[in-house]
Amino acid sequence: MSDPNKQPAFVTIDPATLQPGNAYAAHSAQQASHKVAAAAEAQRSWRRTGFGERARLMQAAAAVLRARRDELADLMTSEMGKTVTDGRAEIEKCAAACDHFATHAAGYLSRQRVDMPGANAFVTFNPIGVVLAVMPWNFPFWQVLRFAAPALMAGNGGVLKHASNVPGCALAIESVFRDAGFPEGVFGTVLVKSSAVKALIEDPNIAAVTLTGSVAAGRSVAATAGGVLKKCVLELGGSDAYVVLEDADITAAAQVCAAARMVNAGQSCIAGKRFVVVRAVRETFEAALVEAMRGYAMGDPHDPATKLGPLQSVAARDEIHAQVQDSIRHGARLLLGGVVPDRPGAWYPPTVLGNVTRGQPAHDQEVFGPVAAVIEAADEADAIAIANASEFGLGSGVLTRNLQRGERIAAEELQAGMSFVNDNVRSDPRMPFGGVKNSGFGRECAEFGIREFVNIKSVFVKGPA
Ligand code: NAP
Repeated sequence: MSDPNKQPAFVTIDPATLQPGNAYAAHSAQQASHKVAAAAEAQRSWRRTGFGERARLMQAAAAVLRARRDELADLMTSEMGKTVTDGRAEIEKCAAACDHFATHAAGYLSRQRVDMPGANAFVTFNPIGVVLAVMPWNFPFWQVLRFAAPALMAGNGGVLKHASNVPGCALAIESVFRDAGFPEGVFGTVLVKSSAVKALIEDPNIAAVTLTGSVAAGRSVAATAGGVLKKCVLELGGSDAYVVLEDADITAAAQVCAAARMVNAGQSCIAGKRFVVVRAVRETFEAALVEAMRGYAMGDPHDPATKLGPLQSVAARDEIHAQVQDSIRHGARLLLGGVVPDRPGAWYPPTVLGNVTRGQPAHDQEVFGPVAAVIEAADEADAIAIANASEFGLGSGVLTRNLQRGERIAAEELQAGMSFVNDNVRSDPRMPFGGVKNSGFGRECAEFGIREFVNIKSVFVKGPA
């Protein structure tokens, strides 16, 4: 009989070698609830600190991140396989986000006057309490910091339930805020499985929830949050389309598309996944894309020169390979890669599929790995229609030499939360980030993100009659 008081441990597996790493004890339901209560208690004082004090601590968090950059990057590499170069860049980006919200939160949340004769009327943006963050493994620091920096600067508390394969990263993030001098408990990590999320959302000390993850997890979190009428923000999957027009610089376009596809070994919600190319340039583009993708050679993720490390797990790799094989069975042409390497580890080579059409997984589903799908379109209108014929609407791109044309398509035609012309989609603390359709709702980053978890309050003050 298993002992109900003994919680299962989280054991990490190095995806490059399949060697077990560290084991971490899980928090029991009671321990998790105590951490949530501690965050609520700490937040009651934290909400009364001024922006100056919060900014000082947030800048200290940025300094801790920078000081621990290499150690934290190594941790990501050993838990989910990210190349150490990408890991270092991720930590730098997190530090920049801390600096950004330290500098701009007061402005983003400053009172707004409302012109109402005879009264002092204004809008305030007050903290709402403790926000639960359910986060994925693919950018183990960035996904959390882009939530935590604005949430804490707004005066909220935070509780992190991270993905089960990155427990070391989850605890390291808690330690970053502690080492920076944040009040004990105002940001806490709970090491629990996804089955514990429902009870956490329903905990009276949780005010709202943000999830970054799959559509299935989004539905589940939204249903629970709806049941207790708590606000939620959902950042879900994507199958970003890049429209390549006949007037594009094809070599440059192929490089942008390869970079978009290969970000984080293809394991990014905003990785370019479908390349919708007008017929006149499809063949030339395909050849250029194969060349560009070939440049991402697999190698040791600890080597700073490596551009493609392993995927996060063998199970994920096998799922991607099945999507590739199924696409080929349904008519796709294999132009590069597509063969599982004969070595231990979650390896998959850069892969390009041509002749991708409706009915193939590479066309219809999110492929979360280094697999580029080329879809032919008759012309611009057809390309836009194909790009929009997706359950997702996260990022999108346009490749063209005609900037007016690109701007029009990006701004008005593509059904996505973000549209980039002649560059690959990236998140940035200065620009709102989020999607439409099954990619979720709500926004992170910039003033739009920080205002998701505040009480937008109307105040009307009139002198006595
Ligand atoms: P996932 O399975 O949904 O996991 C994400 C987080 O949700 C993990 O902490 C996971 O916990 C938890 N979770 C899973 N099922 C849940 C449920 N039914 N109820 C509550 N929590 C649940 O996602 P993934 O497959 O690891 O990550 C890849 C997906 O995330 C892709 O679809 C990708 O596009 C998307 N993503 C979106 C964004 C964005 O900003 N839009 C960014 C990155 C990734 P456990 O680990 O314990 O299962």
